[in-house]
Amino acid sequence: MWEMALSRLDATMAILGLNDGMQKYLREPRKIIEVAIPVKMDSSIIEIFKGYRVQHDTNRGPAKGGIRYHQDVTLDEIKALAMLMTWKCAVVGIPFGGAKGGVIVDPTKISINELEKITRRYIFEIIENIGPEKDIPAPDVGTNAQVMAWILDTYSMDKGHSVPGVVTGKPICLGGSQGREEATSRGCVYTILSTLKVLGIDAACLNVVVQGFGNVGSNAAKILFDLGHRIIGLSDVTGAIHNPGGIDPYKVADYIKSGKTLASYPEAQAIGREAIFEIKCDILVPAALENQITASNAAKIKAKIIAEGANGPVTPDADPILAGSNIFIIPDVLCNAGGVTVSYFEWVQGNLAYFWGKREVNLKLRDIMEKAFYDVYNASQKKKVDMRTAASLIAVDRVAEAVTLRGIYP
Ligand code: GLU
Repeated sequence: MWEMALSRLDATMAILGLNDGMQKYLREPRKIIEVAIPVKMDSSIIEIFKGYRVQHDTNRGPAKGGIRYHQDVTLDEIKALAMLMTWKCAVVGIPFGGAKGGVIVDPTKISINELEKITRRYIFEIIENIGPEKDIPAPDVGTNAQVMAWILDTYSMDKGHSVPGVVTGKPICLGGSQGREEATSRGCVYTILSTLKVLGIDAACLNVVVQGFGNVGSNAAKILFDLGHRIIGLSDVTGAIHNPGGIDPYKVADYIKSGKTLASYPEAQAIGREAIFEIKCDILVPAALENQITASNAAKIKAKIIAEGANGPVTPDADPILAGSNIFIIPDVLCNAGGVTVSYFEWVQGNLAYFWGKREVNLKLRDIMEKAFYDVYNASQKKKVDMRTAASLIAVDRVAEAVTLRGIYP
């Protein structure tokens, strides 16, 4: 994934005509931290987990980005995701750089007690490198508001006073923001609505397929369902389901909550997980992990719009195939930037100790997402490039400008 991130960056920097020094500077993360996390498991046996935090850039503000708990985490992946955060914050114009953290662990296979111990020891190991003015973690795949609460507590105990600004995506009663939980999905939907406008598609009732039913996928499905669209396909790690007549994502969420698997949901037909990409639809929302749409399955996709709820769901070799099928792509750094945008709101509200209502959060989110969408869309029209390239040109240009203005220390 790191190589892919670099190849996309190189292509962007070549178009922008950045000098060699700047190119080297932007390719290299500012800081890479790797830690061993020893934990006494419930069985009393000691396990060692590996954790990472990568800060790609801090020129536009403190480093910002989520922490991922997943068995397949690698340093390369975290480096790529940290770089993506730099571009994401720049595209939506919020004053942060980019970072990402990860721990190699399957959070579904350990107890809540073990999860808490891993979290606290991981934070202890990286504590000097994070903070409200340095680097602010948030939820990502496999982490949630409870994990953020443990991070807040661990950091605060170390400092001797409560420091809510050290994380975003925390529970509302600890200084979290209204609307943060579903912010990534809501932002994604705002970019879809803008896309429908520029493509002149009548938005009454469109067929939607969502790959991934975690925080981003499930909320995106619910918001689109509430807007009157038809959810015809859903998938998660257990499998995929299809019903051309429509699926109620609220019912699916309740069904999964009751301990059953998505694949066994009775009001739809179970299909192979890969088959989710073959369903003919208007909007496809990949909202799981990276590298899902590749050169080997891109040609099978029959969607009009792909809205990248996940980070890096489409590989570079799939891009030209999708373009050949005339599919409009809303790139990840734009499409899923709603999460970090409301993280920014959470940070601002915490700094002011003045909290906004949900309506205000959502309106401000919409303003930022719409402006970012039209910045990218207009650039793509003007420069005659696709949306991904346009987003990248805007982001890299903004970061390069910040680097130039600040200069190199000392
Ligand atoms: N993990 C989310 C993302 O990939 C949110 C990051 C944040 O809020 O800092 O954008």
